[in-house]
Amino acid sequence: MFLVILHLNFIFLTVITTVLITTMITKTLAQFLSSKDWTEYFSVLSNTVNFGLHVCGEDGELFTTRANPFCTLIHSAKLESLRCPFSCKELMTESLQAKGPVIFKCKAGIINFSFPVEWAGEKVYIGGRGGFASYEDLLEFLKLVKTNNLPSLPITMPLNFSGEDHVKAIAQYVFLTVTRLLFSFDEKYRLEEKFFRVMSLFDSNTFKTLSRNPELLYRYILDTIEFVYGSTSAVLMALDNNRLTYKSAYGTGKYKDAFTGFQLNATNPLIHEMFNTRTYIFSADSEKLTSAGPLREVEYFYLFPIFSGDIIEKIIGIFDRHLSKEDLKIMNALRDYLQLHFENRNLRFSANRFKKADERLTYLVDFSNSIISVLSKEKLFNTLIEKSLQLLNAEQGSLMLLDHDTSEFVVEAKKSADETVQERMRFKKDDSIAGIVLDRGEPLLVNDIEKDPRIRRENRPRYKTKSFISILIKIDDRVTGVLNVSDKIRGDVFTEEDLKLLESFVNNAAIAIERSLLFKQTEELKQLSITDPLTGIYNRRYLNTRLLEEITRYNRYKHPFSFMMLDLDKFKEYNDTFGHIYGDKLIKALATIMEKSLRNVDIAARFGGDEFVAIFPQTSKPDAIQITNRLKEKIEKALQQELLEMPLTISMGLTTYPDDASSIGELLEKTDQALYLAKKGGGNKVAYL
Ligand code: GH3
Ligand code: MG
Repeated sequence: MFLVILHLNFIFLTVITTVLITTMITKTLAQFLSSKDWTEYFSVLSNTVNFGLHVCGEDGELFTTRANPFCTLIHSAKLESLRCPFSCKELMTESLQAKGPVIFKCKAGIINFSFPVEWAGEKVYIGGRGGFASYEDLLEFLKLVKTNNLPSLPITMPLNFSGEDHVKAIAQYVFLTVTRLLFSFDEKYRLEEKFFRVMSLFDSNTFKTLSRNPELLYRYILDTIEFVYGSTSAVLMALDNNRLTYKSAYGTGKYKDAFTGFQLNATNPLIHEMFNTRTYIFSADSEKLTSAGPLREVEYFYLFPIFSGDIIEKIIGIFDRHLSKEDLKIMNALRDYLQLHFENRNLRFSANRFKKADERLTYLVDFSNSIISVLSKEKLFNTLIEKSLQLLNAEQGSLMLLDHDTSEFVVEAKKSADETVQERMRFKKDDSIAGIVLDRGEPLLVNDIEKDPRIRRENRPRYKTKSFISILIKIDDRVTGVLNVSDKIRGDVFTEEDLKLLESFVNNAAIAIERSLLFKQTEELKQLSITDPLTGIYNRRYLNTRLLEEITRYNRYKHPFSFMMLDLDKFKEYNDTFGHIYGDKLIKALATIMEKSLRNVDIAARFGGDEFVAIFPQTSKPDAIQITNRLKEKIEKALQQELLEMPLTISMGLTTYPDDASSIGELLEKTDQALYLAKKGGGNKVAYL
């Protein structure tokens, strides 16, 4: 029997789930349990357990699956001594105070059970009216019928005297299935509802507007948490500029006042734990938070880290509030979401910084598309299509980005039955459906491509159905492209719901797109700002960074390092003889030769003009002299192979840290002096102090 019940449960679970989310939001528990889906479910359950089931709210009975013939008979007799149905109702109502099913026999010997169900403060009870637990009970009942001259018993079903224990087992079963079913819906509903609330509060525009004013943003984040969980004591802490402490930026709830001035040291073990696990922590040890003050009264707390790369940039703390599994899911989703937004903002910020720092690089920002690795973009766009198709149960899709310069769409990714649509294919904006979407500035949900007045064009053979959705992809409010989804797997038309779903998915994905674009841009700019444009080897800026690193390393390990400066002899003549273009070629060749000839650990950089430098880490002066002389030979040999017409020589100056200098400035100055000595001696020499 239980197998059958389980199977029925499964069927009903799937049936009810589909209608539940919408119905439960607006209804009370009583209304919800008397909905069509539930009454049908109760009636199947009632037949299976052979008990009439009825649901009663505060205002009385809501419905009964079937009348119990014994009850009906006794009730009709209106016998004072039995107080039917009042005594029965009283007993059932009493069960509202119980935690599980209560079994009771009414004055007529009929066995019943009853249990309460509670949801959002509202209680109802579910009663089961059965038959007789024993043959003796039936005999008592029959006596009652006889002495009161009641009509003969209308028994149409086999009587089962299986004892009170069996009734208890049935009651327990009904109790468990109903409550489990109800709460699995409830959990799903609450999860989705909360999730929906969080996400609706945090669309990317809200974030962008608010991030101009951090204090407002922090407030908004904590308000969202309160809105979702109800009154909550929470704090948002941000890492200060020197990266030593997390300072409370905004707090709410019971500990609001205590949060003012509250801070956590970056070396606090709690921070380490979050750093290592990259996830939230729960603790009931307020001593870990602070050694004194009102926060010591905290019973337990959660901390959620918001990372930016490898740094925990912000922390959300929640105090003395239990978070259920579902609450944690929501908080983690919110945390991931905020993390993505903050990271985006930082990337945008650092891309701007690089832009400003080096004027020569500005043109690159305008051509940002050209410096984005095609590979990662491809992967991102393909994932986007795949997920969109999964989401809408569709078969074909394409993603195209607008090339603003040519007003053409470029197909960036596609999943299509037609092989003639190639990736990277371009087409004119004007005669395309994507163009229509773009011009209208709003998404298109088309039932029939041939009849829709906005489109009216013949359905091409590669499509099975005539319905499709096209939506705009916007980054930073700027239209960047269009995503098309067509051919539902089951052949039906796309709905408004599909459209909304796809839009919200793509809006969130736009953050990821933007992030990948910005990330690449920043990486590329970073790389460009440390390389020399002519030769591609490191430039002077990077040299300074590396020298600083070497000095720091020296301070720790006391390994000296050496530094070499190289200058072509009489390069002006070479330029004058062969022209600047050949001069450039030679400088490039020299950079390549240098890079090839140096050891892996050495760093070569162009210092400027015809001057190059090299750092030899962990190298004392005698070793450096050897290395430099060998390098000179190799370079000259290679240069001779390159330039038969005019042999070129080089001069080199060499110093060692800390023997010759105690700072970067001094090191450069001394090396320049050594180089000057080499030149003064007629060039083609290695000189050192
Ligand atoms: P010295 O032997 O004293 O080093 O004399 P030099 O002729 O090599 O002159 P110096 O090092 O003082 O000046 C560097 C010259 O290198 C100046 C310029 O003609 C040339 N030069 C510098 N940068 C470039 C460059 O990027 N491309 C080309 N083609 N020539 C450059
Ligand atoms: Mg020179």
